[in-house]
Amino acid sequence: MKSYLPSEFIVERDEDKCIRCKVCVNQCTYETHSYDEQDDVMRSKDENCVNCQRCVTMCPTHALSIKKNPGPFRDNANWTSEIIKDIKKQAETGGVLLTGMGADKPYLTYWERLLVNASQVTNPSIDPLREPMEIRTYLGAKPDALEMDLEDGDIELKTKLAPQLTLETPIMFSAMSYGAISLNVHESLARAATKAGTYFNTGEGGLDSRLYKYGEHAIVQVASGRFGVHSNYLNAGAAIEIKIGQGAKPGIGGHLPGEKVTDDIARTRMIPIGTDALSPAPQHDIYSIEDLRQLIYALKEATDYTKPVSVKIAAVHNSAAIASGMVRAGADIIALDGVRGSTGAAPKVIRDNVGIPIELAIASVDQRLRDEGIRNKASIVAAGGFRSSGDVLKAIALGADAVYIATAALVALGCTVCQKCYTGKCPWGIATSDPWISKRINPDIGAERLVNLLRGWSMEIKDMMGGMGVNAIESLRGNRLHLRGVNMTDTELKILGVKMAGE
Ligand code: SF4
Ligand code: SF4
Repeated sequence: MKSYLPSEFIVERDEDKCIRCKVCVNQCTYETHSYDEQDDVMRSKDENCVNCQRCVTMCPTHALSIKKNPGPFRDNANWTSEIIKDIKKQAETGGVLLTGMGADKPYLTYWERLLVNASQVTNPSIDPLREPMEIRTYLGAKPDALEMDLEDGDIELKTKLAPQLTLETPIMFSAMSYGAISLNVHESLARAATKAGTYFNTGEGGLDSRLYKYGEHAIVQVASGRFGVHSNYLNAGAAIEIKIGQGAKPGIGGHLPGEKVTDDIARTRMIPIGTDALSPAPQHDIYSIEDLRQLIYALKEATDYTKPVSVKIAAVHNSAAIASGMVRAGADIIALDGVRGSTGAAPKVIRDNVGIPIELAIASVDQRLRDEGIRNKASIVAAGGFRSSGDVLKAIALGADAVYIATAALVALGCTVCQKCYTGKCPWGIATSDPWISKRINPDIGAERLVNLLRGWSMEIKDMMGGMGVNAIESLRGNRLHLRGVNMTDTELKILGVKMAGE
């Protein structure tokens, strides 16, 4: 069938600068560039280009640039180019449109409509270069009160504390499974988490045996497919996360195509090489809060009650009620993943239309747990499109204890958010299981870039806290008096629990 789809991008090559080195031919995993030996000329297939910017970055003479194709369609606010192209694509394939990364619609972000307070005159700001600023964060159930014995000047803590995760910065790496991303990326995340004193999350594909040495900084996930879940895996991690849902595809399962299931991935997932890894939409043993409680306690039992258990859900309409049930079922950490949460592959219609923004979910869950007097029984970890330290700080002021980042971490490794992760041909060597392409990520360099990102964000968080007159992140958590809203309705302000700017 002849395709009626126009190229999305146009490749422009400056012939005066091009030295025909063919670097672009080798770097492009979509076969956009080729060398015509007969005519001694470089050629490009615009229709293959995804604008990942790999060739532009690697071209030694800066001869390349990629332009967005303005397209043949006339401007129409209702029938946008994106909609017309999606319909044409489905008319040609008859399938579900897949995409990668998070939803990109402009109406889904509240961070830009929240502004942070700063101290002026009456309560002085704090200089983080001269005063200690505490951003260490503990995740897990906390007691409402501490019992202590004081004898001969010695204090003995009598309250038995639940197991905790200790984070030197309130930022962790979110679940990304081995198979969806390469081993070198998993190793970069693991090393960076270890060095920065935080955690990475295995995602639903298990943990390759070569990375068990980073287990003390791993959150090991148990998802509906139970891929790679066994006693050693559970005990290798610092915490266990039950994945019920994820922000990019609430209510549906996952699918790693057989061609991506190489030897190592098959061994780690405990499935035959080359078979499709299908995660069912529900956990087939969880149909109620009581069922969830059984799994939480089965996992606690399997790890001798030494690790906190997290339960991750996609942020949806009734997240607050669900979270309340999860805490009562014994979850130590509630992980909420908003509508902008990323994925390696999801149906576009689900990614862009299902779920709610994480900002609203954090505020409503935090408030509900406070109202019910159970806020201390679990920590809240927020995920779903965190792009800067400003977003992180606002999330904590709304009620989160910590955040998960994923896309930002991948961008630090080279990702340009081209949204083609589902193809498995990521030109930056990230969202791929191809051993050849995976070599593009060097775990030494990857870990260094990630540690730098965490360090930069942590310093910025301390700077902002200092400006607010806050010297401990604990006293910022859920302190919405530090936030003001702009360009929001009364209902939005009420759900977020913040006042209008100027009030
Ligand atoms: S990488 Fe740059 S210089 Fe080399 S062939 Fe491609 S366009 Fe020409
Ligand atoms: S991980 Fe790779 S394929 Fe996915 S958006 Fe980033 S650059 Fe594109």
